[in-house]
Amino acid sequence: MIELFLLLCLIGIFCTFGEVEKEQVYDFTFAGAGAATLQIVEKLLQSGNFTDKQLLVLEQDPNKENDRTWCFWEAKTNTQWSEHIVKEWDNICFRSTNLSLKEHISPLSYKMMRSGSYYASMRTLIKQHNNITLKYEGVASFEEHESGVRITTNEKTYNTKLFFNSIFDWEVVQQQKRYPVLQQHFVGWFIKTQKPHFDADSATIMDFKVAQKGSTRFMYVLPSSETEALIEYTLFSKEKLKPAAYERELRAYLSEKDIRDYTIEEQEAGNIPMTCYPFAKHNSKRILHIGSAGGWTKPSTGFTFAFIERKATALVDFLKSNTDMRQFEKRNRFWWYDLLFLDVLARHNHKGSFLFSRMFQHNKPARIFRFLEERSSPKEEVQIMRSFPLGLFVGQVFRRLLRAFH
Ligand SMILES: Cc1cc2nc3c(=O)[nH]c(=O)nc-3n(C[C@H](O)[C@H](O)[C@H](O)COP(=O)(O)OP(=O)(O)OC[C@H]3O[C@@H](n4cnc5c(N)ncnc54)[C@H](O)[C@@H]3O)c2cc1C
Repeated sequence: MIELFLLLCLIGIFCTFGEVEKEQVYDFTFAGAGAATLQIVEKLLQSGNFTDKQLLVLEQDPNKENDRTWCFWEAKTNTQWSEHIVKEWDNICFRSTNLSLKEHISPLSYKMMRSGSYYASMRTLIKQHNNITLKYEGVASFEEHESGVRITTNEKTYNTKLFFNSIFDWEVVQQQKRYPVLQQHFVGWFIKTQKPHFDADSATIMDFKVAQKGSTRFMYVLPSSETEALIEYTLFSKEKLKPAAYERELRAYLSEKDIRDYTIEEQEAGNIPMTCYPFAKHNSKRILHIGSAGGWTKPSTGFTFAFIERKATALVDFLKSNTDMRQFEKRNRFWWYDLLFLDVLARHNHKGSFLFSRMFQHNKPARIFRFLEERSSPKEEVQIMRSFPLGLFVGQVFRRLLRAFH
């Protein structure tokens, strides 16, 4: 009898503690531990202004390893990512049927880092801070209430004052028709050759000398030495291909370059959203969508990593004095440029090679990079726009205007 009484007491104590754990209110909770969450968490720690905040990070994948390469351009002298950078290039190449150029991009350089190195260093950093908890649980749903947000995972329920969601949902963008949605989809091979084949000082950011087959297609060639390169067959189009189609094109490209002595060391694949869909409309007082899920991917190129860095910096600054997440995002003129460009590319998907060639033919990479990173002057933007055939874009402006009135 006494044993039964003790057992009931133990169950009572256990349940009470279970409740307390359930009722803990975190200050900031993040869904997903990818590039956006980790960069924000890192900057929150660096700022030193949030040491009294309790942070919770919920990630569904306990085996998140080296699942992607992140490439971006920045000042060669910038050392922020040095420990993770595996290769940087001072020259970029662009190729199409009527243009072939190699440009020195100093004082910038094009850099490549592997995600695994960053994930590992962030896991270590998180372990060193008592105010951050990383749990491997999949977020099933979340719901805002008067004083916070309740999150349900496959294991538990959590309460938080502010919630940052980086879980991307393709359905949200695919089920609307107002904004075109393209995907930057690709399969890349890390290959090793026996003989030297590559110019290790140059990154080929777009080689359009592949069959276009009615859509925008190019090879992305990033050599890390004369005998090693990441080669990605990339499309900007509405639908993904069957896996065998990417492989066929990769093999054909290598064979066309007379590269036959290769072994495939690793492979990466992805599809990145390219859309001006206004993700910010899903933000609310206590919920902010971040990373690709928040529209932090540059719609016209798919570049995301460097944008996340800028957004994360702005967000950490914003959080010092604001708690209303509806006020964070501000639309700028580049959103309109992207919208127009995507409207044209979605409608004339076979013209990507032509449009990008015109841009590289009439502008130095430094100006193009400033434009793509949304740091160009209005004068430079006019110069970029003058590279494109007016007719294509004027027609599209009218179509957009008509749409706005219907
Ligand atoms: C292979 C690949 C290569 C890329 N290369 C470049 C590049 O070179 N340059 C560039 O600028 N951009 C690149 N991108 C695009 C972009 O930078 C990355 O996708 C970037 O990781 C986006 O960051 P994120 O935080 O928005 O999403 P992610 O990094 O994808 O993070 C989202 C996280 O949420 C987790 N998650 C998903 N569902 C749940 C759930 N229900 N519960 C809990 N967790 C969940 C995922 O496991 C993931 O860890 C690349 C993308 C891919 C896929």
